[in-house]
Amino acid sequence: IIQLYTPLNWFGTYYRMIQSAFVDMESMFDLLTEEKEVKDNVNAGDLLFTEGRIDFKNVCFSYTPGKEILSDVSFSVMPGQTVALVGPSGSGKSTIIRLLFRFYDIRSGCILIDGQDISKVKQNSLRSYIGVVPQDTVLFNDNIRENIRYGRISASDQEVEEAAVAADIHDRILSLPDGYDSEVGERGLKLSGGEKQRVAIARTILKNPRIILLDEATSALDSQTERNIQLSLAKVCANHTTLVVAHRLSTIISSDQILVLHDGRIAEQGRHEELLAMGCLYSAMWLKQQQSPECEVSEELGLETQ
Ligand code: ATP
Repeated sequence: IIQLYTPLNWFGTYYRMIQSAFVDMESMFDLLTEEKEVKDNVNAGDLLFTEGRIDFKNVCFSYTPGKEILSDVSFSVMPGQTVALVGPSGSGKSTIIRLLFRFYDIRSGCILIDGQDISKVKQNSLRSYIGVVPQDTVLFNDNIRENIRYGRISASDQEVEEAAVAADIHDRILSLPDGYDSEVGERGLKLSGGEKQRVAIARTILKNPRIILLDEATSALDSQTERNIQLSLAKVCANHTTLVVAHRLSTIISSDQILVLHDGRIAEQGRHEELLAMGCLYSAMWLKQQQSPECEVSEELGLETQ
């Protein structure tokens, strides 16, 4: 009986293995056939990066038909400049950043980098020039060293640590139970919002992209952390074309241009002093912020767009 049972048992095991392989293949095909949000043109070439100028020309965009999120948005960022996007929650600031990284295609108008339409170049090539520091950084279930190295897989351990120093997270990592080998992510240590953002900055330092898109975290950070982050960001962004969704004044005051978004349109644009002199939305926001400095700029406009 045992002699008969063993092959049957094997058969059962193999049957289950084959069955699960088919299930895996099925889900693989599901993934392959899933519609991608954006596709490369058949003839798409590489982006020819020269100096890093960005142009939005009459951009209209909606996530769902009938609900326009951006209407006729036009602006330019000159090579090496820092442009800040401010405005109430839901006015479309983060959407502008997502569109530049081409997470979505626009409905009309065009987005150009160094004169080339980003919808006509290879996504990989476009994205190789752009570094994004998102509002909420995703950490993988791996140690913190590999999480930082994700910015440039070929980076050496020493380069990873240098990036961590520049992003002001090195000392914090050394204080973790296993230092750089400490596991983070869902199954490991939970890092705070400010710490995760510094990991994202370290990744960006390793990637050393030509264009930086920064979506400032809205979560409150203590003022020392805030200052440190601003300092490390200033180093990363120097001489790089930078587009930043700003929630804090320190970023805004020194930027080369401020775009005030309202209801998916650019309501005002100029430098800090120019916008103050206009005495409209931005200056109202500024005055209120002076009275209650702990508030974020986007709250300060006090104009809900939805
Ligand atoms: P905040 O300051 O709160 O981050 P924001 O100005 O960056 O806001 P966006 O995130 O660009 O605003 O969102 C603009 C609008 O688009 C909002 O009305 C939002 O609800 C909507 N929206 C954002 N992402 C999606 C999505 N994936 N699908 C559908 N609608 C979306």
